[in-house]
Amino acid sequence: MRKPIIAGNWKMNKDVNEAVQLVNEIKRGVSDIDNVDIIVCPPYVDLSDAGEMLASGNIGVGGQNCFWEKEGAYTGEISVGMLKSVGCGYVIIGHSERRKYFGETNETVNKRIKAAIEGGLVPIICVGETLEEREAGKTMDVVKDHVEGALSGFDEGFIKDIVIAYEPVWAIGTGKTATPDQAQEVHAMIRKLLEDLYSGEWAAGTRILYGGSVKPSNIEELMKQEDIDGGLIGGASLKSEGFVDIIKTTSGLYA
Ligand code: PEP
Repeated sequence: MRKPIIAGNWKMNKDVNEAVQLVNEIKRGVSDIDNVDIIVCPPYVDLSDAGEMLASGNIGVGGQNCFWEKEGAYTGEISVGMLKSVGCGYVIIGHSERRKYFGETNETVNKRIKAAIEGGLVPIICVGETLEEREAGKTMDVVKDHVEGALSGFDEGFIKDIVIAYEPVWAIGTGKTATPDQAQEVHAMIRKLLEDLYSGEWAAGTRILYGGSVKPSNIEELMKQEDIDGGLIGGASLKSEGFVDIIKTTSGLYA
C-alpha cells in the first residue's frame, strides 16, 4: 500500500512569526499520526525556523522551488544545497503559478528535478491543465506532456523517489474542486503512463497527489479513489484547524 502524503503549500503567505505559530499548532495537532507523510512548504524566509522546529518528529519540510545551479550569480534564486541546509527533504517543482507567472517550462522543470534529486531532495512535481485546455478536450494530452517533459532523460533508478501532484489549474484557489471521478481518471492515466515509461512495479509504488481546492469537506471522497495517494493543499493549509483535519481524515482512512 502506498503511504499517503498530505503536503501544505503556503505559497507567499506567513511571515516568520506567523509561520512559527502555525508550525507549532500543526505539530500539536498531528503528533500522534504516523501513517501519513506530512509536509509543510513555507516561504523561504520561514524555512530555517520551520526546519529547526521540525527537525525531529513526523512532519517534513519542503521548499516551493529550487534552482538547478549549486551557487553563483543568480539573484533571487535558491539552491538545493541551501534548502537542505535548513532541513528540507522535499521541494515543489513546476507549480502552475510558477508556469503562469514566472515562465516555468517543461525544460526548466526537468532541470530543477534533476538538481533536486542529485542534491537529495524529493521533488513534488506539479502537472495539470487549464480550464481552456480541459474545455478543448486536451486534458490528457497536456498532463501527458507535463509528465513526459518533467521526466525526460531520467531512468527509473534516478527517479526512485519522486512525487507527482495532479493539479488542474482551474481548481487551484478557486473553490472549484475536480470531482473524485474527474481526478481519478487523470490519476489513473498518469499511473498508466508511468507504467509505460518505466516499470509496473515502480509505477504502482509512486505516489500521485491531487491538488486544487482540497478542504476538510472533500478530502475523504478524493482519498477514497484508487489512484489518489494524498493531497497538495494550498489555502486550507494556512489554518492549522483545517490542515490538521485533512491529515486526520486521511489517517483514519488508512488505519
Ligand atoms: C496549490 O497551490 O497547490 C493548491 C492546490 O492550492 P489550493 O488548495 O488553494 O487550491
